[in-house]
Amino acid sequence: MIKSLSYWEKEALDKVYDLTIVGGGFVGMSAAIHYQQIFPDKSILLLERGVIAYGASTRNAGFSCFGSIGELEDDILYSSLDQVKATVQMRHRGLQKLQKLIPAAMMDYKQSGSIELFDSEDQFEKAYATLNHWNDQFAELEEGDIFRKVQVDQGDFYQYGISNPYEGQLNPYKALKHLEQLAIQLGVHISYAAQVDAWLEQGSIMEISTKVGLKYRSKRIILATNAFTKRLIPEIDLMPARNQVLITEEIEDLAWKGCFHVDRGYIYFRNVGKRLLLGGARNISQNESVDSYGNTEEIQQYLLNYLKNRILNGRMVKIDHWWSGILGVGTEKMPIIRKFAPSLYMAVRLGGMGVAIGTVVGEQIAQLVANDEE
Ligand SMILES: Cc1cc2nc3c(=O)[nH]c(=O)nc-3n(C[C@H](O)[C@H](O)[C@H](O)COP(=O)(O)OP(=O)(O)OC[C@H]3O[C@@H](n4cnc5c(N)ncnc54)[C@H](O)[C@@H]3O)c2cc1C
Repeated sequence: MIKSLSYWEKEALDKVYDLTIVGGGFVGMSAAIHYQQIFPDKSILLLERGVIAYGASTRNAGFSCFGSIGELEDDILYSSLDQVKATVQMRHRGLQKLQKLIPAAMMDYKQSGSIELFDSEDQFEKAYATLNHWNDQFAELEEGDIFRKVQVDQGDFYQYGISNPYEGQLNPYKALKHLEQLAIQLGVHISYAAQVDAWLEQGSIMEISTKVGLKYRSKRIILATNAFTKRLIPEIDLMPARNQVLITEEIEDLAWKGCFHVDRGYIYFRNVGKRLLLGGARNISQNESVDSYGNTEEIQQYLLNYLKNRILNGRMVKIDHWWSGILGVGTEKMPIIRKFAPSLYMAVRLGGMGVAIGTVVGEQIAQLVANDEE
């Protein structure tokens, strides 16, 4: 807790910012960049609780993906066709935007393509029967069919899959760092280790309190706190969903290259150079609706068995590292991008697609605030 401030520190903290963004993930950074691009003279403060961004943006799998047939067929059970299409279009647009903002080499981007794998012939046939329908729905996105039947020759377990050559993989930490640099270059002030605990409306100014005891003042606030938003606003339609991830040591003869989706997207794996990254399976357990990091025996065992028996033909390799990350999910798949109170806005609940849509969500919330300025 910081108790005593110098005159200089106090003077700096007394400043009233035009906009304060809470959360330094893809959405927070993108919102800061877009708002500062619209209003180069306005002052923007970004407050991030971690000493580095401590949310999903640097802890994810780095798939730059816009949807698999199994996932779409699952989504359509709960949403209209228009809603499902809108999600995919948003992901596609977001990935194009991300690649415009960040040069491929700066985030290790590779258009490696992806393959959706099916546990049984029956499951594959069901998905394959809908392939033309989904290709027609997204005909305007890419030249040529997006979804294609492929023979899988990387292991003994899977035989057929559905590929999407337009998807890719990247290093999300490098991508976020590049966005951070862009924001700083534009003039955004970023404070790390600044967990926002509360805010108080005082006339036209919001006074923002942080855990370390510092207070900031701002005309408007955007919450870009994704899965952690419920800690600040308990009534919103959002549930945290933990995902556990492993990465193996280098495997010299690794046959799996690119991104792979299984079981409606609940399981995903990809190569990272010669290593294999595998994560997900939150649907097999009741215990993953938490917003605290950690790994559990149940999911770890499931993923280890999966790695050995379905990916590596019965062979086991050394696991180099385990971690977890928290998704923000809800009763609807689309993110919440809205004004919540006269000076308070939010862009949260990005589900498992924030690498893809983070930049457009940031842009949309920045534009919403900008509209109120004009
Ligand atoms: C394991 C895993 C794998 C994933 N894989 C993919 C993938 O391959 N492709 C894909 O498109 N998406 C993927 N996702 C989803 C994607 O990572 C997220 O949707 C995206 O990162 C969300 O970005 P965000 O900026 O909204 O939230 P976050 O990155 O979570 O950022 C929110 C930030 O707010 C900060 N914060 C929270 N509370 C406060 C507070 N009170 N004060 C200050 N700061 C605060 C947090 O520390 C955090 O840095 C995955 C997610 C996980 C967990």
